[in-house]
Amino acid sequence: MPAALEIKHLSKTYDNGHKALSDVSLSVKQGDFFALLGPNGAGKSTTLGIVSSLLNKSEGEVRVFGHDLDTELVKAKTCLGVVPQEVNFNQFEKVQDILITQAGYYGIKASEAWPTVQIYLKELGLWDKREQPARMLSGGMKRRLMIARALVHKPKLLILDEPTAGVDIELRRSMWRFLRNINEAGTTIILTTHYLEEAEELCRNIAIIDRGTILENTSMKALLSKLHKQTFVMETIPVLQTIPEIAGFDVSLDAGGQLEVDMQGTQTMSAFFNAITDHKFQVASVRTKSNRLEELFLSLVSSGQDLNSEEKVL
Ligand code: ADP
Repeated sequence: MPAALEIKHLSKTYDNGHKALSDVSLSVKQGDFFALLGPNGAGKSTTLGIVSSLLNKSEGEVRVFGHDLDTELVKAKTCLGVVPQEVNFNQFEKVQDILITQAGYYGIKASEAWPTVQIYLKELGLWDKREQPARMLSGGMKRRLMIARALVHKPKLLILDEPTAGVDIELRRSMWRFLRNINEAGTTIILTTHYLEEAEELCRNIAIIDRGTILENTSMKALLSKLHKQTFVMETIPVLQTIPEIAGFDVSLDAGGQLEVDMQGTQTMSAFFNAITDHKFQVASVRTKSNRLEELFLSLVSSGQDLNSEEKVL
């Protein structure tokens, strides 16, 4: 059984000489829900742009369900539905017509497409808007229309570039539910994201990309087990002048006198509060020092992965 997506030794140098991808290889199994995770500028959109044949690659091979993009482009494209980041439909076209037109690009007649169009308009909460020009839709509805459009020819692989960037929490959750359902019904899904939480919520397997290089390609479970440490920053009353000794916990003071506590995976916050009961300070507030994605990058660096030591901006 061929992989849903097989990328081998993919490189991309843009016309201005910028090397955005360097020897990227990854494989996504049929039926998988896969995340390509990385900070801004890592090369996620470039990778997906090449897979969806919007961009030319410089080197390497890409196969979609076994079909090589160089030699079987039409077959590969038939297997593929792509939701780009930017809204790129004709805003003056009616919602339902956008879907019918798209089906037409794949040789599907309007009458044949209509049952599928109806299903997705209803499932994505667009049915009542079907007769309206797309420009009348809210931002969230436009995003959902982009998803419906990518699905109208029933692709086996759906690729979404940052599907929930800038989307409110409620809509994000409903999009997650929808994507989970179509994945369970058999569609392979790949999404790019820079939210670890999104990848964690949805995906079984994950690749981490940074500066055009794959740092990690593994199961979500194996990756999360690397997140063994989290640092909490606590404001204390009074502000501490010296580092307290707290049995079993690794603590320090930052420049502003806030207490930093490194919690290992097995340690709990309540154990920490028990350990400070005899101390003469109280904790007024607690926050995490960095988000978990930052922690993850730091843990990849400390395990000797190929990342420069300069500070990461996520
Ligand atoms: P991501 O999707 O992970 O944010 P991109 O794939 O968009 O990253 O970009 C990867 C790198 O390629 C970035 O350094 C970006 O500035 C650069 N890049 C993207 N598009 C172009 C382009 N058309 N010409 C030159 N450089 C580009």
